[in-house]
Amino acid sequence: MSYQSVNPNTGKMLKSFEHLSAAQLEKSLATAQTCFQDWKKTTYADRAAVLSRAAVLMRGHVDAFANLETLEMGKRIDEARGEVNFSADILSYYAQHGEAFLAPVKLHPKNGAAHMESSPFGVLFCVEPWNFPYYQLARVAGPQLMAGNVLVVKHAGCVPQCAIAFEKLLLDAGAPVGAYTNLLISHEQANQVIDDPRIKGVALTGSVEAGRSIAARAGKMLKKTSMELGGSDAFIVLDDADLERTIPWAVWGRMYNGGQTCCAAKRFIVQESIADKFLEQFKTALSQLQAGDPMDRKTTHGPLSTETALVQLIKQVDTAVAHGAKLLMGGKRIARPGSFMETTILTDIQADNPAFRDEFFGPVVSFYRVKDEAAAIALANDSDFGLGGSVFTKDVARGKRVASQVDTGMMFINNIDWTDAELPFGGIKNSGYGRELGNMGIQEFVNKKLVRSGDFHAPV
Ligand code: NAP
Repeated sequence: MSYQSVNPNTGKMLKSFEHLSAAQLEKSLATAQTCFQDWKKTTYADRAAVLSRAAVLMRGHVDAFANLETLEMGKRIDEARGEVNFSADILSYYAQHGEAFLAPVKLHPKNGAAHMESSPFGVLFCVEPWNFPYYQLARVAGPQLMAGNVLVVKHAGCVPQCAIAFEKLLLDAGAPVGAYTNLLISHEQANQVIDDPRIKGVALTGSVEAGRSIAARAGKMLKKTSMELGGSDAFIVLDDADLERTIPWAVWGRMYNGGQTCCAAKRFIVQESIADKFLEQFKTALSQLQAGDPMDRKTTHGPLSTETALVQLIKQVDTAVAHGAKLLMGGKRIARPGSFMETTILTDIQADNPAFRDEFFGPVVSFYRVKDEAAAIALANDSDFGLGGSVFTKDVARGKRVASQVDTGMMFINNIDWTDAELPFGGIKNSGYGRELGNMGIQEFVNKKLVRSGDFHAPV
């Protein structure tokens, strides 16, 4: 299928784009390869200047960038503005810190001197999802351009205009042609790109299914990959939690970005003694959200990204109910134009229900009661995913104890705020491997070369 930009608030087609021809794709790869030969020789200061200018341009055109993503994938406008600003922060962060992160590291062998130095891999292929149309791109472009790599990027089929806008941003900021190239390509063409010898690394953010396919293909070609995949994060509420503070995080944790966030709170695991109280307050708070045009700042509940996403989510809820889950609220599409899903709460989900293991990518709460802290940890860990999670308690030491025992890449105590360029993002198990952001993010696709010198004699 071609790339289609459809407004999920109205169902109206905005624009569509054909896939690149074989010749266009070849030209893009050749240009990227040529560009790399020069880009790798530029100084960190030169690269930082491009990223800094891109950040300034983003901040100077927040509304234009934000409006486009609200139109293409339905993100509420204030959230879209927040994403644009955060994307600019990521670019600035790497402009500021990239050189220090990649500075040579002195080692201390018994004989002679040694150090590790970092050099870029080359052309990287990045495959990105629609749920954060700019942030996902900034997460790879910031660190990798700073490291001296160049990128060819396949964005998701439903956000072609955002994809093109981000490419233009970098060109406008002075990046040479080929440093960052948007590829409007099919899955089959993506496979060809992975196989291409000019591609030296592959980064995917997306579903587990895409991860299996792309990592397998890259693995066959012995190419380094990083995989940022799905999640089914636990939101653990212990018996001493301050519900006044916890409920707003529960609503935000599930509903931010229309519930379409990899590290959203998806499984609410609440200690028995406060479960009824929590559930009642959570339900009340969710039922107060108002569905509406995501362009309208008063709207508190936007559409899902596409009609396909809505149909799939309703099907998942129906399947959960058919397997014995109880529907406490919602479960249907909202009777209005556009792809809107009711806020939904599922309870009584048994371990043999597909809903116990699946990721719900939208406004669907899976609610569980547990006896105590140990049971909360055990349930949180009974998941194929291991992206993030959170724990709410007045006792921070208790929160830390629980956080240390949950098998994920990220844990949050009394908040669920992952928004900071310095904080490494990523998971374990089916949530993938590797990290983006922070110092770790820039180290994923650089050669760590050992150089040892010393005027000592060969062993006899
Ligand atoms: P998706 O279907 O896997 O799509 C993600 C990207 O992969 C899109 O560009 C898609 O292109 C491409 N793609 C999918 N299958 C492919 C294949 N076989 N070959 C080549 N490209 C392929 O994921 P989604 O449903 O759009 O996004 C939601 C998923 O992403 C959720 O599971 C979410 O948890 C995860 N996610 C993870 C993170 C993280 O950092 N861990 C962040 C955000 C989202 P098309 O659109 O053209 O199919």
